[in-house]
Amino acid sequence: MSRTPIDGTVLVVNAGSSSLKYQVLDPVTEEVIADGLAERIGESASRIKHWYRGHDVEVEETLADHEAAIARVLALFAADGVDVADSGLAAVGHRVVHGGRSFFEPTLIDDVVRSEIERICPLAPLHNPANLVGIDAVSALLPDVPAVAVFDTAFFHDLPDAAATYALDAAVAEEYAVRRYGFHGTSHEYVSRRAAEFLGRDYADVDQIVLHLGNGASMSAVAGGRPVDTTMGMTPLEGLVMGTRTGDIDAGIVFQLARVGGMSVDEIDTLVNKRSGLKGLCGENDFRAILERVEAGDAAARLAYDVYLHRLRRYIGAYLIELGGADAIVFTAGVGENAAAVRADSLAGLEKFGIEIDAERNAVRSSESRVISTESSEVTVLVVPTNEELAIARQAVAVAGSTSQAG
Ligand code: ADP
Repeated sequence: MSRTPIDGTVLVVNAGSSSLKYQVLDPVTEEVIADGLAERIGESASRIKHWYRGHDVEVEETLADHEAAIARVLALFAADGVDVADSGLAAVGHRVVHGGRSFFEPTLIDDVVRSEIERICPLAPLHNPANLVGIDAVSALLPDVPAVAVFDTAFFHDLPDAAATYALDAAVAEEYAVRRYGFHGTSHEYVSRRAAEFLGRDYADVDQIVLHLGNGASMSAVAGGRPVDTTMGMTPLEGLVMGTRTGDIDAGIVFQLARVGGMSVDEIDTLVNKRSGLKGLCGENDFRAILERVEAGDAAARLAYDVYLHRLRRYIGAYLIELGGADAIVFTAGVGENAAAVRADSLAGLEKFGIEIDAERNAVRSSESRVISTESSEVTVLVVPTNEELAIARQAVAVAGSTSQAG
């Protein structure tokens, strides 16, 4: 068979409850061949934005479920002459948020694996069920392409016990699998490896703090390639202040809202995950808009920014101590890659700790990895763009390839 335009590439799928993000990319050359997003699945006005080799298509029509959405995406490929089911696609890589205690490596999905992902759904009720729907929908339409689950928790599966354990009644914690799992692991691993490569050093020789600051945000301390702490915990709610999540709060607040406020568990869940964080403080979670409002002297935006920075700096301090000093501090994701003010403010005044940002370097806008600390800074501060799709594609193809050779 002659090579098709997507021969040897990987379809990466990130399914949410009413959305589905996808990308087709070449895991070797890193070329992105197609990219898209189906939104409002299951509602009357669904929409697909699809990009294929330089041209955009937008479709607005009712998509009853994820399978209908994927069928429509496959039809968009067919309109460009690509029969995805018979194109030599090497693998489908599914982002799965929670791997529980069961999964700590990218895993080829079969019936047993699927059942186990289903069994651990209660650990991530907001995420894993949607990921499973995506897995089922793609495998119904592309049954012959190996499907691999890549877990957001995997990188952190081996956190030291002291970092992974909540000081909760031990028997209760055991019964309900309550521990700190950590999330954004695909990004933290990818970025920390890239940072070591960029510095021309062995991964095992670099102690680093990685700040993944997107709409969701988390930080990790990686000691010689081994994550020793991370800010997200049992769920992605813990840790940093995020776009719409509180990050750390006193758990007593939850009881107060239930007892005094009469709120249900679901209402509180929505409040702390979707209506809080930056949005809860100033009505906005787009960081660009917040920075503009701060510049303009808006008090609510200023407080939101200050609370966000206060939490960041608290964790930077904690992780510097946990690592006994860092070789590198690495910023990534939408805010970390683009908001020079956040980078400067989060590390301001830390010269005594060997951390010195170079204002000019920090102001440069670029999509490349770069150093933003001064020559004399003992700690190298970097910006390293994350690429979770590429990381998932590479892991998926490694698992699918090794399985087909073994089989
Ligand atoms: P996620 O993948 O968690 O949805 P991203 O990593 O895409 O999030 O980051 C989204 C965040 O990055 C948004 O708050 C957005 O405002 C912010 N962002 C993107 N570009 C810029 C920029 N140029 N300056 C400041 N913030 C930015």
